[in-house]
Amino acid sequence: MTDTAVAAEVVFPGEDHLAHNYHPLPVSVSHGEGAWVTDVEGKRYLDLLSAYSALNFGHGHPAILAAAHRQLDRLTLTSRAFHNDQLGPFAEALASLCGKDMVLPMNTGAEAVETGIKVARAWGYRVKGAAEGRAKIIVADGNFHGRTTTIVSFSDDPTAREGFGPFTPGFVRVPFGDSEAIRAAIDDDTVAVLVEPIQGEAGVIIPPDGYLREIRAITAERNVLFIADEIQSGLARVGTTFACDREGVVPDMYLLGKALGGGVLPVSAVAANADVLGVIRPGEHGSTFGGNPLAAAVGLQVVSMLATGEFQERARTLGEHLSEKLHALVGHGVTAVRVAGLWAGVDIDPARGTGREVAEKLLERGVLVKDTHGQTVRIAPPIVVRATELDWAVEQLHLVLGD
Ligand code: PLP
Repeated sequence: MTDTAVAAEVVFPGEDHLAHNYHPLPVSVSHGEGAWVTDVEGKRYLDLLSAYSALNFGHGHPAILAAAHRQLDRLTLTSRAFHNDQLGPFAEALASLCGKDMVLPMNTGAEAVETGIKVARAWGYRVKGAAEGRAKIIVADGNFHGRTTTIVSFSDDPTAREGFGPFTPGFVRVPFGDSEAIRAAIDDDTVAVLVEPIQGEAGVIIPPDGYLREIRAITAERNVLFIADEIQSGLARVGTTFACDREGVVPDMYLLGKALGGGVLPVSAVAANADVLGVIRPGEHGSTFGGNPLAAAVGLQVVSMLATGEFQERARTLGEHLSEKLHALVGHGVTAVRVAGLWAGVDIDPARGTGREVAEKLLERGVLVKDTHGQTVRIAPPIVVRATELDWAVEQLHLVLGD
C-alpha cells in the first residue's frame, strides 16, 4: 500500500488541509499522563516513542506543568531586546549541568544545529585562523541533524535531500563509527567534527566503544572542535546525562533540544566554553522566541530534575530490564537489537513484515512505536514508565511477531 493510499484511508477532521510532510499512524491523541496517552475515542496507549525523546519526563509531569503554569500567569515573551528574570537562572543552571561556561538558547533542535555550525565557522575564522570562506565541518554517514536547507545539505538520506538543492557547501561526510576516517579527512580548513554520539533516526546505532574518545583525542590534537549533537541522545535517555558520558568524553560543544522543553514547548541550546561560544557578537545570531521566559522557566525546571541524577539512574536500570526482554526476541521475528539506556532499535525480520506494519499492529494492541528506515522499530519510552509496563509492551511485540 502506498503512503498516499494510507493517507486517503484515515482523514481526521480538518487534516485534508494539512500538508503531507508526515505519515502518522492512524490514531488521534487527545490526552496524556505519564507514559500513557488516550485517543479521541477513549482508547489508551502506552507511548513508547516519547515524541522522539522530547517527553523523557512523560506527559504532563506535575513539576514541569507547575513551572509552566506559574510562568504563564506572569510573563511569556519579551524577545531578547530586553532581559527577563528567568533566562539568567536557566543559563546558569544549564551551563553548570553541561560543565560549560555559557549557553546560547534557541527553540528547535535544527536551530541548535544551525547555531553550532555558525559558532564553529566563526571560531574557525576568528580564533583558529582558518582561511575566510573555506571552513569545513566533518559529519557522519547516516546522520540526522534536522531538516533545514543547510542541514539536509550534509545528509545522505535521499528523502531529506531530493528536490531541495542547491545545497550549502562546507561539509565532508565519513563513515559513522570510523575515527580513522575522521583523522584522514581533517585538513587546514577543518573547524569541527559534528556527530550524534548515538544515531537516533538511523535506528539507534551505537558506535564501537572508544569512538567518542578517539574523536576527542583527534580533535584536540588537530585544533578542531568536537560538536556532539545530543538533541535526541542527551538528557537522561541513555542512563547518563549525555551519551558522551558513556565514554567519559566531554565535547567542545553540546547541542541540546527535545527533552529540554519538558514536553511542553520547544527549547534548544548550544553549550560551550567562553573561548568558543564567546565568538558570537550582538546581532550575529538569535531568534525572537529563543530564551523566552516561559521556555526558560520550563528549561530551568527540567535542568533541576536532571541535576538529581534520578532520571538517569531510572533510565539505566529500566534500560537493562528492557534490553534483557528485547534480546529474548532475537531469532523470533527480530534480527537484531541495540539498546542504550532506555532507548532501543529493534530490527524486524522482513519475513514478518516491515517496521511500519509492526507499528500498525502494535497500535491495535495499545502500544505506540515508530518505525525508521524500513525494518527498524525504535523504542524510547518516557523514563517514568514502569518495568511491568515495559514487560507488557514487549509481550505485545512478541504476539505481533507471531512467535
Ligand atoms: N538532531 C538530532 C540528533 C535529532 O534527532 C533531531 C530530531 O529528531 C534534530 C537534531 C532536529 O530537531 P528538531 O526536530 O527539534 O528540529
